[in-house]
Parts: sequence; C-alpha cells; structure tokens
Amino acid sequence: MTIKSKLTEFHKVGPATAKALANLGIHNIDDLLMHFPYRYLDFSKSVKISEARIDNVVTVSGYIKSITARRSFKSRLSLTEAIVSDDSGSIKVIWFNQPYLANTLKSGDKLVLSGKIEKYKTLQLSNPVFEKQTENQIHTGRLVPVYHTSSRVSNKLLRDLIFKALPLVDKLADPVPKSVNQQNDLLNLAETVKQLHFPDNSEMVKRARFKIAFNDLFPKQLAASYLKQLRAKQKSFSVTTDVELIKEFLQTLPFSLTSSQKRASWDILQDMDKATPMNRLLQGDVGSGKTLVALIAALESANAGLQTAILAPTEILARQHYETILKYLNDYPHNIGLMTRNFKLVNKEAVTKQQYAELLKSGKITVSIGTHAQLQDVFEFNQLGLIVIDEQHRFGVAQRQYLNLISKGRHPHLLSMSATPIPRTLALTILGDLSVSTLSQVPTGRKAIITKLVADDKRKDAYEFIRKQIDGGRQAFIITPRVEGDEKSNLKSAKLEYERLQREIFPEYKLGLVYGKMKGSQKDTVMSLFNNSEIDILVATSVIEIGIDVPNATVILIEGAERFGLAQLHQLRGRVGRGSFQSYCFLFTSELSHLDSERLQVFSKTNDGFALAELDLEQRGFGDIFGSQQTGYSFRFPEFVSIPALKLTKLAADNLLNLDPEMKKHSSLKKQVQALLEELHAE
Ligand code: ADP
Ligand code: MG
Repeated sequence: MTIKSKLTEFHKVGPATAKALANLGIHNIDDLLMHFPYRYLDFSKSVKISEARIDNVVTVSGYIKSITARRSFKSRLSLTEAIVSDDSGSIKVIWFNQPYLANTLKSGDKLVLSGKIEKYKTLQLSNPVFEKQTENQIHTGRLVPVYHTSSRVSNKLLRDLIFKALPLVDKLADPVPKSVNQQNDLLNLAETVKQLHFPDNSEMVKRARFKIAFNDLFPKQLAASYLKQLRAKQKSFSVTTDVELIKEFLQTLPFSLTSSQKRASWDILQDMDKATPMNRLLQGDVGSGKTLVALIAALESANAGLQTAILAPTEILARQHYETILKYLNDYPHNIGLMTRNFKLVNKEAVTKQQYAELLKSGKITVSIGTHAQLQDVFEFNQLGLIVIDEQHRFGVAQRQYLNLISKGRHPHLLSMSATPIPRTLALTILGDLSVSTLSQVPTGRKAIITKLVADDKRKDAYEFIRKQIDGGRQAFIITPRVEGDEKSNLKSAKLEYERLQREIFPEYKLGLVYGKMKGSQKDTVMSLFNNSEIDILVATSVIEIGIDVPNATVILIEGAERFGLAQLHQLRGRVGRGSFQSYCFLFTSELSHLDSERLQVFSKTNDGFALAELDLEQRGFGDIFGSQQTGYSFRFPEFVSIPALKLTKLAADNLLNLDPEMKKHSSLKKQVQALLEELHAE
C-alpha cells in the first residue's frame, strides 16, 4: 500500500463508495489524508455516569444492561431505548429513528457513548454517537473531526478510513524543507495531518492549521521572491526624468498636486529612470487623483519617444480617461487614441480598426487608451514603454498578465491603480516585486463621513433621520448582509427589508431593490433610476460595493454590520460622501460579540481604508474580501493566513533563495514555483 494507492485497493472500499469519494475529490490515500475536517465535536469530557449533569456534552463508558425498540404513540417516531451502566450507576440512553440498533447492539456490549445529557422525567443521554470500547476511540471521547461529506459518504466512514490510513502519514511529502519547519517552530507534515484528523487538544489544532496555512503560502512567497530576482535581471526603457517638462505641465493645471500625488509621481519617475522594469501599484480612494499621476508618467514616457497603453476595465471608464487626457494634453504634440470595441478614435477623429493598428505600430499614437482588448488583441506597438492598468477588480491578476510582455526586446514599465485598499504585506505576497504608492488625501476636500454604531432601540430615530434627508432632496442606501431570509430571524435580508420598509416605514417614498443574482439588465434599470433620483432609497446587498457613484446619496444604513469585514464596510461607506453634502453611515447589528463591538467602534472612528484593511487581515486573516475572487488564490485555512504568517513565509522564502537562488537543492519546490509562475502568465 502506498500513498498513491487507489481507494479500491484499500480496506473495505467498493467501487460505489470509491465513486462517491471521488466526487468529494478523494481518489487515493494521499487525497484521503489531505481531506481535512472543518470543525470538531468536543466529546473530550469523559465522566462517570453518576457525574452526568443536565445540558452537558459528555462521554461515558459502560455496558448495555438492556435494549428495546418501540414506537412512540404521539409522534410515530421509532425509539430505541437502552440502559447503560458503569461502576457508578446507570443512565437511560435513547436513539430516535434508528430501530436497527436494537438488533445490532445487545445486552453486555461494552460501549463508549458521547452526546448531550437531557432531562425527560429522568436524566437521559439523547441520540449519542457510540462505538465499541477499543484502544482507539475515534468517534467518541475526544475532539471528533467533522468533514465535508455527501449523502453517500458519512463522517463515520471518513473517520474510519482516515484512521486506517493514518500509519501512512509518514509517506506524505512535505514541500517545505525540514530546516524551514524547524526554524519556524512548525509541526512536520505527518504530525500536522495526524493532529488535524485526531487532535490531542484544540491547541494542537491551531498549530496544525497554521502549518497548513504556511504550506499554502510558502510556494507562493517563493514564486514572488523568485519573480523579483528575475525582474531585477530584465531590461526596460530607462526614461530620464525631465523636471522642466513636469513643472511646465503642472503650471497648466488649475490646482496644485497634493503632497501624496507629488510623492507618488516622484516614486514612479524614479522607477522609470531605471533600466529595470517598474512594477508599482498606485493605491488611492476614489477621487484621490490617480489619473493625473498616471498622466505625468505617460507624459514623460512620450517625451522619451515611448508609447503608453492605458487599460480600463470598461468602455465607459476608457472613454472618460480619453477625454480627460485629451483635455490635459491639448497643447502637446502627442496623438491620443481611444481603442474599444465600439470606438476607435485618434485625437477625436474616428478611424478604422485597421488604421488604428497601423498608427499604433508606426508609433504615431503615443498614448493609447482602451479596454484590455487592445493588448490581448492583434495590436502591435512600436515601442511600448509604459502600461497603466486602472481599477482592476481582480487584484493582481491583471498585472501578472503583462509582466512578460516584451516590446523591442524590453519589458515595459508597469503601473497599476486600484481603489481597493490592499495591505502591503498581502500585496508583496501576491506580486513579489511590487512597490506601492498610496494617495492618502482626497484633494477636493470632502467632508469626512460621520459613522455611528446604533442600538436597535434607536432604529426609529435612524429612519426619521433618513426621512429628513430625503425631504431635503437627498437619497439613501440600506444594506443587508443577505438576499433571502425569514421573518423570525434577526438577520435582515434585502427582499424582506425592501417590502417591510416600503410598506411600513417609508410608504411615501419610492424604494428600489438590487442584489447580486438579479439579471444584469434589471440591475442596470434600478441603478439608473437611482442615479436619476427617481428612486429615493436603494435597498441592496453588498453588490453595490463597487463602482457606484451617486453624489446625491448622503446616508448609508448597514444592517448586520458585524457580518462584514472592515475593508468591505469601508467600501460600502464610500458609496456616500461623494458630493459636497455632509454624509452619514449608520451601523446596525443583529448580534454583537465583544470583538465585533470593538472592531465596529474602531471603524466608526477611522476613515483610513488602508488601516482598516490591515486590521481586517490581522483579525480575520485572508477572508472573503481578500479571497480567491480578488486574488486568484484560495487557502485551506484562510483565517490562519494572517500578517504573521505572511511575514514568516516571506522571510523563509527570501532566506531559501539567498542560500540557493536557483532552488537546485529543492527540485520539487522549484517545480511548484515554475508551475505557479506559468499559471500566472497564462491567465
Ligand atoms: P481617481 O483616483 O478616483 O481615479 P481622478 O483621477 O478621477 O480620481 O480625480 C478625481 C478628480 O479630482 C478629477 O476631477 C481631477 O481632475 C481632480 N483632481 C486631481 N488632482 C487634484 C488636485 N491635486 N487638486 C484638485 N483636484 C484634483
Ligand atoms: Mg480613476
């Protein structure tokens, strides 16, 4: 039997079971051992029968004194009743709807039973899990693993199979070298897997999960550091900064740059001056003035005879950039192009796709603005010196696509811009050689949004407040954590809230409803009604997080706020405060732990999205906000992908590469890293 043996070669697994296991992704013993439980039943409290107390979850060991099956009159349930005794006393045990038990169990059988003690006339153990007394208890008497199962694969089956396979854990290959395990005080993989399935205690569960998070991260960190090494050897176009050019350009503006715009521009120009390619992320809230910074870079690039490609996620954004840039560069001898599916324009004149391609290839278009299609399509540049990627929603993925792009034998400089605050530690992990500039101010001097955590008994006041705002001509958002719900639950749902608010609270106003699964066209209709002030209050799930810009909206009320990460709450809050009006964010909660209450207090006192994202990562790890959707990565225990884990793995990866830059001594790791890099470039 080896780790790669098929399950059909293994203990009592027939073809039907093997097929059901395969549906869970379990094909061989390796897969089986790596199918980790997501939680545990705590049956670790063993007591004498005489010590069993009501409402306790306990484990008792004893023998069956008697066992009978019967049907209850009232509920037509089948009941199996047993009396179980140990040397301290006896207790009634009752199972529902398992009549076969009276045939499989018999008086005198020695059992271990785990379950809850309830009282119904006398104390009884209700529906306990049980197993025969043996040397190893795996279903009772310990922290018992709970797995993702299917109708044909039960927890009991998985536990039995995994327990049988456990002696093979030593054959699992740990991709992380032994020395790295030791330096970081990590469990080795064999011990980790044992502890995850059949833990000694909850402390060991934590250590084991941390080790898995480490193993998930380590190859990605190595890939990132390796990429950084590679990039340091790549050649780019060195663009000498022309300070006079910038000064003159700035004089044409009706305002002066904010200090963070100045710093970011300077960072970028310094990067572009180097012969190695820039890879910089420019982060800044919506309205912080990222476009202008990109424009300064494009201007310098054009001045050096190089072309710039600006990529926007949508046609609308591409068009906006095109118009802005045309306006700013009106007095410069540069040709500005717009290239989207529906528009091909050069300096406001329409051209054919063919003509556009030729102008691009001959280098006549210096700044080409468009959607991603312009680089993925057949378009060729003469000398592409700079790529600017705006507002990517899948953070990181877009940059990676262009890291390998070559123009005239050189790698263009790369500038990405994002309004989603990504903690630096995470950005480094995902992109390795990425540098980060942050625009921390919004230049037009918006009023800070007032955020309040509101107690449920003040709900009426909040609605009254919204009423006043609407009567004053403004609009409001009401956000719920989910779409569907039932009326008894504390947790509000968009559909029910929409009906309730329209009927009971705001009958005099027009309410709208949007949620993620709605048809695109329906969503667009509601959104444009809200945009045109034809809807007063928009009830929504977090779908409105991105891309909504309604300056007339001044209140956002968030239900079940404890359900959201802080970074996500911040994105939601950013839907208001976009105009000149004072804006407000009200947080309601459905249940509030101490930690949640602290988190929300911090949130109500800070408007700094980066600090909040960092705090989120610290407290909740790599959760849904930084999840696979935005990064293209998923982790087995995301809550353990924390800042310390990110830092440790980064350090370990750098150390390994310092000693062995080509990973000659770590060939399996090297393969993994190469596969990761290929995957990144293939996307
Ligand atoms: P974003 O970072 O969201 O892309 P934009 O680049 O679109 O922001 O800028 C938002 C608005 O702020 C634009 O109208 C722009 O002209 C203006 N702006 C940019 N920088 C400044 C500044 N330093 N002072 C005043 N207004 C500015
Ligand atoms: Mg922008």
